[in-house]
Amino acid sequence: MKGRIFDKARLSEFIDDLIKKRKIYAPINKDGLTCFSEIKSSSEIYFDFQSKLSSKEILFPRCETLFTYKRVDGDVKLEEIKVKDEESVLFGVPPCEARGFILIDKAFSSGEFQDVYYLRRRENTIIIGKSCQYPRNTCFCTSVGGSPFGREGVDLLLHDLGEKYLLELVSKKGEKLIDYIQKYENATETDIKMVQRIEKVAKESMKTRLELKNIEEKLDNMFEDPLWKIIYQKCVGCGVCTYLCPTCYCFDVVNEQITPSEGKRIRIWDSCQFPLFTLQGSGENPRPTGKERMRQRMMHKFNYYPKNYDDIACVGCGRCIRECPVNLDIREVLKKIMAQ
Ligand code: SF4
Ligand code: SF4
Repeated sequence: MKGRIFDKARLSEFIDDLIKKRKIYAPINKDGLTCFSEIKSSSEIYFDFQSKLSSKEILFPRCETLFTYKRVDGDVKLEEIKVKDEESVLFGVPPCEARGFILIDKAFSSGEFQDVYYLRRRENTIIIGKSCQYPRNTCFCTSVGGSPFGREGVDLLLHDLGEKYLLELVSKKGEKLIDYIQKYENATETDIKMVQRIEKVAKESMKTRLELKNIEEKLDNMFEDPLWKIIYQKCVGCGVCTYLCPTCYCFDVVNEQITPSEGKRIRIWDSCQFPLFTLQGSGENPRPTGKERMRQRMMHKFNYYPKNYDDIACVGCGRCIRECPVNLDIREVLKKIMAQ
């Protein structure tokens, strides 16, 4: 492990130095809601256990214009909206969410069509994670291949050592910030051992441990299982679980007319939990009830995605558990699937 160590009071100096040269996004408190947003000063940073809204929306905005169109002399002129080539830093991302970006990368960068909007932002953004010292009882990252101190998806990782911070250099990309951190002292063996001790305690404190081995194969035989009919009963189809999820990436593309001759094509987040998500022009809907929609959510995360990308599309952040208005707990659903 390589890293630099500095007194906590100097974190603001580090952030404010970065702000002079790069766009910085960090967790803030906006009217009582924690979310990630661009900051202009380190004083805006608000460290919560976990923001209510995940950092996903910084690289994959809820709504974005893809191009504009205009009718001119019987022809249509299109103008692509290019994502600016801006060097950015996404600061304070918990390891589970950072891992979520790796999962979205796979979906948006493989296959015939690549998502240039997301990928350009991703390429230009350095992710500084913050290790998760006190996992909540709804967290289960270690059950789905992650860790509260996971390095997957982070370029640098900030560890809280009480009076000080240790900023660990994780990736080659993270070294681009070397000019900003070389004034701080190198972490000593004692500092590194302290991080390892805290990491061990954090991992051991994870209350939820799920056994999900072979879940993909289990689900292969469960498309018509009566279980879905039982599980979906209390779901009200609000879509909160998918909107807050750091690994859900479905979107819709619509035209927004501004005047009779001009408009824009936008994409907006969508949710497989909404009936309109699969409603076809003919009026046919292949997922007509909550049963099919709930099955889709679970199948996508634990069967279809693993088949395509060899990983589970859930990082165990627990947001869907905490925010579901009817307390539908994905861990209980997983246990039921594994018990089948
Ligand atoms: S948050 Fe809960 S109620 Fe809302 S769609 Fe998800 S599972 Fe259903
Ligand atoms: S499915 Fe739930 S626990 Fe898993 S990553 Fe999404 S919000 Fe987090």
